[in-house]
Amino acid sequence: MAQLVQVLVKTPAHSQIAGSLSYLSEQILSPGTLVRVPLGQRETTGLVWEDDSGASASQPAAEKLRPIGQAFNMLPPLSRQWLKLVGFAANYYQRSIGELALAALPQQLRELSPAQLLRRLKRQETQHPASQGSVQEKPPALTTEQSSALAQIEAGLGPFLLFGATGSGKTEVYLQCVERLLEREPQAQALVLVPEINLTPQLESRFSARFGAHKVVSFHSGLTHPQRLKNWLAAHQGSARIVLGTRMAVFTSMPSLRFIVVDEEHDPSYKQQEGARYSARDLAIYRGHIEGAKVILGSATPSLESWYHSRPQQEGGRYQKLFMPSRVGDGGQPPLVRFVDMNHQPKNSVFSPPLLAAIQARVERGEQCLILLNRRGYAPVLHCTDCAWKSECPHCSAFRVFHKVDRSLRCHHCGFTERVPRTCPACGNPDIRPLGRGTEKLEEHLNELLGQVLRPDGTPVCVARIDADTTRHKGTLESQMARMHAGEIDVLVGTQMIAKGHDFRNITLVAAVNVDNALFSSDFRASERLFSLLLQAAGRSGRDAGISKNSEMWVQTFYPSHPLFEALKKHDFPLFAFQLLKERQQASLPPFSFQALVRAEARTQETAQDFLLAAGELGAGSALALGVTIYPAVPMSVQRIANIERAQMLIESPSRTALQRFLLGWHTMLHDLRQGPRGKGLVRWAVDVDPLVI
Ligand code: ADP
Ligand code: ZN
Ligand code: ZN
Repeated sequence: MAQLVQVLVKTPAHSQIAGSLSYLSEQILSPGTLVRVPLGQRETTGLVWEDDSGASASQPAAEKLRPIGQAFNMLPPLSRQWLKLVGFAANYYQRSIGELALAALPQQLRELSPAQLLRRLKRQETQHPASQGSVQEKPPALTTEQSSALAQIEAGLGPFLLFGATGSGKTEVYLQCVERLLEREPQAQALVLVPEINLTPQLESRFSARFGAHKVVSFHSGLTHPQRLKNWLAAHQGSARIVLGTRMAVFTSMPSLRFIVVDEEHDPSYKQQEGARYSARDLAIYRGHIEGAKVILGSATPSLESWYHSRPQQEGGRYQKLFMPSRVGDGGQPPLVRFVDMNHQPKNSVFSPPLLAAIQARVERGEQCLILLNRRGYAPVLHCTDCAWKSECPHCSAFRVFHKVDRSLRCHHCGFTERVPRTCPACGNPDIRPLGRGTEKLEEHLNELLGQVLRPDGTPVCVARIDADTTRHKGTLESQMARMHAGEIDVLVGTQMIAKGHDFRNITLVAAVNVDNALFSSDFRASERLFSLLLQAAGRSGRDAGISKNSEMWVQTFYPSHPLFEALKKHDFPLFAFQLLKERQQASLPPFSFQALVRAEARTQETAQDFLLAAGELGAGSALALGVTIYPAVPMSVQRIANIERAQMLIESPSRTALQRFLLGWHTMLHDLRQGPRGKGLVRWAVDVDPLVI
């Protein structure tokens, strides 16, 4: 007799089909099996779902049920834990399960027919003899700090926060943890997440050298569809022991997952910024929990969230903190941090004379410099050019954002709005302007300033730039990096992407020239990011023991006595985190509260805000009951993109559970609202849970 089966299909983000669809099947199919199913006029690949808990409201009458097509019986079904992971992620981040689950699979897997997939599998078998005896590198003897961290990981359950300086040998700890794991349990699998695609080749070669290339696969946005499918199959069928990848790899099917690493766990790129806006770091913690896999988060500058979670257990901490403060192989001398007080430099100079002189001296000695730009799109905050006034919100520990369109200052936290004052409210100066502008021409400018400088061999200085604009073409980043390693480039100018992970040997000076805007941002996480960026950048300097004693980090600022810089001078992350956590606690900001943003986009700002207003009214009762605060709708800091007006509304609660309960109940109301008169003219809306940028 035919059975009723629930199948997930890929549905658009906010379609009414929130759960699974019902079909008939002659065979009994276990949850997690991929099947072809008819959907309207076409056929699509779906996933057999566990039960009817999320069953669709639009269940057709029994006689209208359609039979499923072929099942992908040649593939083992996705595990219950995997199904649980995508189910959790969909609920938590407010997306439809079908959309999230199918998007988590390689595109080709969804497109091939069972017969095509079978052919692909056969071809792969013949291409890959079962084992390849590649030469494997011997691991180095661990330092005392590394051994202690390893021993604690072996002994504990985790999750662990490995708080280790740049170059302290965290990667080596991951490698040896995996090695121990595979000795104990040869069939086990490990997942290693990294923030950036350009860090995967480096890491892949280190893991391949240690374990043999046949055991390692990687996932990142640079793979072709066939490569992605091939790697996914290796992980799903268990032949790959180690999976490396960027955030999306957190969804890789790994039936014997025992160990998860999230390297550089503080990095914002772990948060997906469109569609299902998940945090791969947070999902890694959840996945570790349901799979029984140990999770290690590693960073030299942990996120405040993770730092807070790793406070002592008796104070409620849930993560175990491991310390590795020293760099491997040198005398433990971190670079000297120097500040240039820009109040005492020629007006409007981008590069101060002392910094220029220091760069010149490096070039003449044949050493390299790294110049860091902090060009990230911080929302503009106004400041007075004469006194210390800035557009602070009187109600929040945040700065109000300058909205050019109507010349207003708005707080993105509480919504407080005023017209831009004519003159500085503190001193009457009429010259009020946005902080931190005009860095586009920095490389050119530097080239002019250093034009006459010669290297030791008499050849002229070479200044190059690396950022998202210069590396749009495939391979440019690699070739620029190679030129830097080869010593062809003397001064490298770039955005945060040059501060991460790369192991330059001959850099003795790292300079940050325009960082002040991040000290006074409307985004309360900006200073956390700045500190992390500067400390990571400092870690690029003096990696060779021989030159580490000359290495320096320079910061140009108008606020040299800012507490952030005090902590930076001492390379003291715990001090910085302590200060910042205190501020966050006083202001009830994360990690002391939990947030979600609802965003709405429409032709007019009014329509967008009216939708949010109506949404707020609908949720008011349950928000009150659950202890959730709904803030007023405000325009987004980038208020209009391509003639679409954007607005957002902040939802906040001291309890994650309360916030989740509120959002789950509210979600259907928003769907209905969208269909009704007040949803008219709305282009789209979306919820961002645990947003990184407000
Ligand atoms: P991190 O990941 O903390 O930045 P890495 O693991 O990349 O640090 O280590 C930094 C450098 O030190 C690498 O070149 C690595 O090969 C080397 N290294 C790490 N551990 C050891 C060790 N125990 N003995 C010798 N060299 C080591
Ligand atoms: Zn003033
Ligand atoms: Zn405010």
